[in-house]
Formats: sequence, structure tokens, C-alpha cells
Amino acid sequence: MSPPSILTDPLERVSADHQAPVALSYELFPPRTPSAVDGLWATIRELESTNPDYVSVTYGASGSNRDTAVELLHRLLSETSLRPLAHLTCIGNTANELAAIIAELLDAGVRGILALRGDHRTDGSEEHPPGALNYAQDLVELIRRVEQRRSAMLAAGKVAIGVAAYPTRHPESPSEQHDVEVLLAKQRSGADFAITQVFFHPEQYADLLSRAKRAGVSIPIIPGVMPFTSVKRLERLAQLTGVQPAPELLTALSHAQDDGERRRVGVRATTELAKAVLQVGAPGLHLYTFNQHQAALEVLDRLDLPRPTRPAGRSSQQPSQLLSKDPS
Ligand code: FAD
Repeated sequence: MSPPSILTDPLERVSADHQAPVALSYELFPPRTPSAVDGLWATIRELESTNPDYVSVTYGASGSNRDTAVELLHRLLSETSLRPLAHLTCIGNTANELAAIIAELLDAGVRGILALRGDHRTDGSEEHPPGALNYAQDLVELIRRVEQRRSAMLAAGKVAIGVAAYPTRHPESPSEQHDVEVLLAKQRSGADFAITQVFFHPEQYADLLSRAKRAGVSIPIIPGVMPFTSVKRLERLAQLTGVQPAPELLTALSHAQDDGERRRVGVRATTELAKAVLQVGAPGLHLYTFNQHQAALEVLDRLDLPRPTRPAGRSSQQPSQLLSKDPS
């Protein structure tokens, strides 16, 4: 008879004793001008102090900001304790071009990639070279192939692949049901987790969880939550993604007297949304920061998330502490 295994313990006991903490992550975009760099780094330092699990770095349409994105990823790896998740889009790029970019990211030390298709250009100027990938699912498969060729190098840190999920129908999709079938296909191709598009009502996220579960999706679906502090930003978001802001929120923000009141209104609404999605089982929160930390941190303060404590990262060590570790 084989010795008893811990896995033969009643599963409920094991899971009750080891509740996973709530995952925490932030989205940043690469600075668009040299003058934006200092502000971004002030934000990065503030976010770093909250010990997130990772920060994601967006990728401009068809790689339009590729150099600044790669530079930001390099600096995050070398100058902070933060783990970056690199967004990558495949639209308009061939498998060979993308394989070279993935290899470059892995060689730089990136271990997390958010595999996306990217948006079609609205002006019709899009190129579709022979061999270009069509869907995010193809990119997930390509990342797994490049990873396989680097298995030895990745022995102590395989690549985590995230994908996009949609609480409200993707604008090109025939139905929400089709969206979860696509999500399932991305899971089957090797995705480890999903992050959602912005949404305004907790029921939209809860419904996505139920639809996805019924379809057989088992990867965590992390809600993407945006601090709702700017009317302009919400209107732009609606234009870009088709996600319509809640009218009562737009009204409350428009009637606010000044930026301070707008932030209070937005932070309150965002906190309520975050609490509601955690209650229906969200495994974490991904905060869209728009490179500004204040509203994101105010939301966090009001949530008091159960988070693990970690040893101090590289950037929180003072130069004198680093020197005192030198054995020579
Ligand atoms: P896909 O999963 O490929 O889906 C695209 C469309 O094709 C959907 O309508 C889907 O239903 C359909 N589809 C997919 N597979 C199939 C199939 N096999 N057969 C038929 N139809 C199919 N964009 C950027 O440019 N840069 C970013 O950094 C970026 N970051 C993002 C982060 C998050 C968390 C999210 C949610 C979106 C982000 N986007 C970004 C936007 C994203 O690129 C767009 O939403 C894009 O339109 C779809 O990308 P996707 O990865 O969901 O594509």
C-alpha cells in the first residue's frame, strides 16, 4: 500500500487552510514624451510601495511604441522590485517577427506576457502581410513554442500568459457567448489567466464568470478596474472600446465642483465596484492607473485587501545597506 498522501486529505480542509491572497496588479503605459518620464517614475515608486504581484506595460497599436515599451520593461527589471507583465499585440505582424520580439522579452528577463490581438485601424491603413497572425489565440500558441525552445533557460520561471476577457460583448463579436468560446480557445492554447476590459456594473463581471464557468473556462479571470475620476477619459474609453459608462456616474462627475470632488466621487464609485466584484469571487484586482497613482492608491486604502508580506525588494534597500552586504 502506498503511504498516505496529503492529496487524500478532504479537499475542503486543504483549501480552507490555504486561502489564496487577493492578487494585485497595475497597468502602466510607456511615457509618450520625454517630459512624462519623471512623473511616471514617481508613480512607479508609489505603486511599488504597495508590493503588487506585477505591473503590466501596454503596447501601442501594432508596436507603435515598441522602443519605449521595451525600455520601460528593462528599467522595471533592473531598477525596481516589480515584476513586469509585457502586453504584446499580434495584428499586422508575422509569426517570425513576433517570435523575435518574444525571444527578446524572455532574454531580457520578462516572465509574463499579455497576449492580445490589438485593434484594427479605423482609417483602413492596416497592413496584413502574408503569415500575419489573426487572433490572440495564435499569439498564445506562438509564445508557448518560443518558450519551449528556451525550456532549459526557463527552468526556474516559466512564462505566465495572460489574455483579454470581456464582461460586455467585444465590439466585433456576434455575442457574449462567442466571447467566452474564444476565451476557452485561448485557455486551451495555453493561457494561464485573463484580465477583463473595463466595465461599470458588478453584474457584468459576475455574469462573465458564470458564462465562462459553464463553457469550461477554469483560468482566473481578473477584473480590470479603472478609477473613474475623469469624464473625458470615460468618454474616450467608450469611443475606443464600445463600453458605455454608467450615466449616473457621468452625471455625478460632471456636477463635481473641482478636481478634488471629482476624485472623491470617482474613488467612491470605483471602491464600490471593486468590493462588489471581490464579493462575487474575483481572484484579484488589476487597476488601470493611466500612469497616476493617487486615485488607485485611494481605492486600495479603502479596500484593505488580504495581501502577503514580502521581503523588501531591491529598490527599498538603501545604498548603505547594499554596501554592508559586500563580504570583501
Ligand atoms: P482576440 O481574442 O483575438 O479577439 C478579437 C476578436 O476576434 C473578438 O471579436 C473575438 O470574438 C474574435 N475571435 C477571436 N478568435 C476567433 C476565432 N478563432 N474565430 C472567430 N473569431 C475569433 N490593445 C493594444 O493595442 N495594446 C494593449 O496594450 C492592449 N492592452 C489590453 C489589455 C486588456 C486587459 C484588454 C482587455 C484589452 C487590451 N487591448 C490592448 C485591446 C485589445 O487589443 C482589443 O480589445 C482587441 O480588439 C481584441 O484583442 P483580443 O486579444 O481580445 O483579441
